[in-house]
Amino acid sequence: MSTIRLRNYQQQAVAATLNHFRHSNESALIVLPTGAGKSLVIAELARLARHRLLVLTHVQELVEQNHAKYTALGMQAGLFSTGLGKHQTDYAVTFASIQSLASQTERFTQPFSLVIIDECHRVSLDENSQYQQVLQHLRHYNPSLKLLGLTATPYRLGQGWIYRRDYRGFVRETDQAIFEHCIYELPLSHLIREGYLTPPVCQDAAVHHYDFSRLEHPDDSSQAAAVNQLLRKYPRVTQAICEEVMTLAQTRRGIMLFAASVEHAEEILGYLPGTEAGLITGKTESQLRADTIQAFKQQKLRYLVNVSVLTTGFDAPHVDLIAILRPTRSISLYQQMAGRGLRLYPGKQDCLIIDYAANGFNLFTPEVGSPKPAADTEPVQVFCPDCGFANTFWGRTDDQGQVTEHFGRRCQGLVEQATQTEQCRYRFRFKECPACQHENDIAARRCEHCNKTLIDPDDLLKRALSLKDARILRCAGVTCEVDAHKLTLIYHDEEGDTLKESFDFTRPGQRQRFNQDFGRRLSPTPRCFTHAQEVLLYAGHLRHPDFVIARRQKHYWRIEEKLFDYQGRYRKAYELH
Ligand SMILES: [Zn+2]
Ligand SMILES: [Zn+2]
Repeated sequence: MSTIRLRNYQQQAVAATLNHFRHSNESALIVLPTGAGKSLVIAELARLARHRLLVLTHVQELVEQNHAKYTALGMQAGLFSTGLGKHQTDYAVTFASIQSLASQTERFTQPFSLVIIDECHRVSLDENSQYQQVLQHLRHYNPSLKLLGLTATPYRLGQGWIYRRDYRGFVRETDQAIFEHCIYELPLSHLIREGYLTPPVCQDAAVHHYDFSRLEHPDDSSQAAAVNQLLRKYPRVTQAICEEVMTLAQTRRGIMLFAASVEHAEEILGYLPGTEAGLITGKTESQLRADTIQAFKQQKLRYLVNVSVLTTGFDAPHVDLIAILRPTRSISLYQQMAGRGLRLYPGKQDCLIIDYAANGFNLFTPEVGSPKPAADTEPVQVFCPDCGFANTFWGRTDDQGQVTEHFGRRCQGLVEQATQTEQCRYRFRFKECPACQHENDIAARRCEHCNKTLIDPDDLLKRALSLKDARILRCAGVTCEVDAHKLTLIYHDEEGDTLKESFDFTRPGQRQRFNQDFGRRLSPTPRCFTHAQEVLLYAGHLRHPDFVIARRQKHYWRIEEKLFDYQGRYRKAYELH
């Protein structure tokens, strides 16, 4: 029997797993970039396992590859995959395809101690999904079944993080935690620095590129029509891009192009040399798909165009030019595409990655866990005023790189309490409970402190609309004036109409109201003001409410409600519809 020589980080990942399951039965997750050698980590865990172990994944190639890595050590293991024509269930270690197992769960009636899921970002919480059905079945035979996931990208597009607690001392904002703990993560930069992956050379397209910034949901595949419509406005750009790629390709071996839609991909293919280029879309028939991939891997084809099918689980190590012609607001999707070119290959010095879609990411951009909210936003670091944790949120910066605004809601730091650690309670954005002043999440329906129903902002707006003496201002900005101790805020709408609200700073109640509504929301750092004059220095940083509701008094409008962080049916200022 040969022994595995594990790299340092692979050893650390194995040690972290053993250590975790020695103390806990809660599910765990390991994050290793593509190319880190996940199958060796799995093989070593299987070798060390004292009880029955099952390794699951959704792609046949991976089932085969993981199995091969393990048996290469001289160990025996079962394969369970209809595609591979094997249905072995009697080994202590079994490598299975989730599809094959899900359709024949009745063949697995012996208790497993640990299930390892490779590419576990594919697991869904839906209890009717194959993974959940299989796990439920296995738990029937062992209620304390342990679950370990491995992935390069611990988030699902459109759903967010797949785990809750991170070993580095923070939590991930998520309602979709499939895994409780992330116990180990290796950064991509480490693999590149250590020479395990090819250095990327990332470039934004200088001359020819698309502008997809007006596209509202670029990652939604049902939006292909909108994408095509937009692309038709660039009839010459696609051709120019392809010509540029072909010029660059003269010194390159393998070129992958990521297209925005099937129509787009076909257009791209039309500009590339016919005998040297292949195309794969979600609709490509499976034999043709396999043949095309093989021809590309054997370097009979130099160009491979695809539409969102080869972003994970595909590896042709010789690829040294990646051209991204599709829009995405997902950092992880961008990194998956770019990551296709990082494998080592003899004679390969680097991999050129060109973004023709101005997505604005690079390979080392930290994942924020939610899609980019607007084209001009970027990941920013925001320190928690309470616990000091450095959060990463979407935000905007000024010319000096200072954060001027961010979209974070709650601090993600983990803080020590008397008996356990829990998520820091500091909220950057909040809905204040009118009854107890507790700060709740902006989407909360009930106060988490006093349990009173929080009035739906849409109901407030609807009610105000029905009143003759009420006025709603769709607020687009706020300015302020100071007269001695009196601060007056002027709320402006898009048309130039205004409403005013005054705060007398000599009166503690009014001063407190101002601080709670505006000082507390000052971005990026909250502030408690003692003098009206002081506010002028921060005038440009005051966050304005989205709606201001006022009631008519005899001689003026009295502000009744201010709706901050509005989410609902009504259009906010400067929104398109
Ligand atoms: Zn905090
Ligand atoms: Zn309350």
